[in-house]
Amino acid sequence: MIHIASPELSGNEKLYVNECLDSTWISSSGRFITDFERAFADACGAKHAIATNNGTTALHLVLAALGIGPGDEVVVPVLTYIATANAVRYCGAEPVFVDVEPDTMNMDPRLFEAAITPRTRAVIPVDLYGHPADMVAIAAIAELHGIAVIEDSAEAHGAEINGGRVGSFGLATAFSFFGNKILTTGEGGAVTTNDAALASRMRLLRGQGMDLERRYWFTDVGYNYRMTNIAAAIGLAQLERFDESLARRDQIAKQYDALLSGNARLALPESRPEVRRVNWLYTVTVEGLSADERDQLIVDLASEGIETRPVFHPLHHLPPYLQPDASFPVAERLGASGISLPTHLGLSENDIATVCEALSGALDT
Ligand SMILES: *Cc1c(COP(=O)(O)O)cnc(C)c1O
Repeated sequence: MIHIASPELSGNEKLYVNECLDSTWISSSGRFITDFERAFADACGAKHAIATNNGTTALHLVLAALGIGPGDEVVVPVLTYIATANAVRYCGAEPVFVDVEPDTMNMDPRLFEAAITPRTRAVIPVDLYGHPADMVAIAAIAELHGIAVIEDSAEAHGAEINGGRVGSFGLATAFSFFGNKILTTGEGGAVTTNDAALASRMRLLRGQGMDLERRYWFTDVGYNYRMTNIAAAIGLAQLERFDESLARRDQIAKQYDALLSGNARLALPESRPEVRRVNWLYTVTVEGLSADERDQLIVDLASEGIETRPVFHPLHHLPPYLQPDASFPVAERLGASGISLPTHLGLSENDIATVCEALSGALDT
């Protein structure tokens, strides 16, 4: 089977995890937590990083620290992983969906502006599949209206806009380190920010609301969203090969581009000129393909030993967020005709050629 994603753990991961086991520091204290937070903040060009137990809690932690709650609205793209909207719901606030741009699959800034109401407290642009959202336009609109910008960069570690890395824009950025992401800790996440007060507030809420200076004095109803030292040990080892792995992912995308660009039915991933896209999942759309045909394509490829996955279902089609009468035409088209291809460091050139042959063959018949 050629898997769609697979973690690559060939560096110091085992050495560092063994250090946790040998030292007995296996819980959420230990040197790897602080080392990983420092190294990750530096890698993003941010002042602070707060490690969490997954990317969903990272998103929730920012919203909770900002005091977002019932009656508030948070604008999110309708095409994203469901965690982006769930984090808003955890606060009792309302996610307000907007459609995406066809080339990047990311939030359309003009539709964000049109969705603003007196209740809008925050906006969460998502860097889908590794292409950063239009943070320049979104930040300018948000600033005019006094809206907090929280970037969801769970799929875009290392991506850049005008030479600056994601994690350094907006008020805060949330990351995931799930096993299929560009950097992994098994399960894990982080928030980066340049705002010292917000960073302290998130540290307090992450640790059950315990005062950072006074042990067992709880000032708030907080959460246990802490990362373990073991997870941070894996993350630190992953960061040591960060640039290398981004470069390898670029090569994989180049090979896909070369082998698929001749197929007129396929729209391949694009990059805006000011952007460095990172290739989390190489995702194509097939012109004229219906959702049923796409799902059949996934089954056919699986029978040839190739694991692929559909582009996210637009959130307004899913039971928790159902809006049967709403129309988000771009997300609906991308969600029906899009398919993500295997993208990970374990792929050989042969594997990629096999995927491309199978895909082209299936589309010809
Ligand atoms: C993976 C992901 C998350 C959440 O990450 P978990 O670590 O699985 O909780 C959030 N948003 C997006 C866009 C993601 O892809």
